[in-house]
Amino acid sequence: MSESVQEKYRVILLERKAELLRSISSYKEEISQLQNSEAKDEADFATISSDSAIEEAITAKQRVELEDIEYSLGKICEGSYGICEMCEEDIAEARLEVKPQARYCIVCREIVEKTS
Ligand SMILES: [Zn+2]
Repeated sequence: MSESVQEKYRVILLERKAELLRSISSYKEEISQLQNSEAKDEADFATISSDSAIEEAITAKQRVELEDIEYSLGKICEGSYGICEMCEEDIAEARLEVKPQARYCIVCREIVEKTS
């Protein structure tokens, strides 16, 4: 992968990272507002707890994505970005366009998903 292409993905990853950090912090704010607001009755309280459980699940997913992005940014620094970790072939750019933090090519991804 050429340096200019790597640079393109570095920018995409950094933008995605900024976006994730923004949404995680706004979720956190919403949750703390919900938790600080007084529940008027039990029904309200139930709504608040289930909402924050959903929000927690969403942020957990985003944290995983954030870690993957950090990992990919590290790979760009090392010069190993865009190479499948399993077969060491180049990952198709069409795949990286959709998922810039991809670690495996499409073929290996399927194997990994089946075995995990
Ligand atoms: Zn592969």
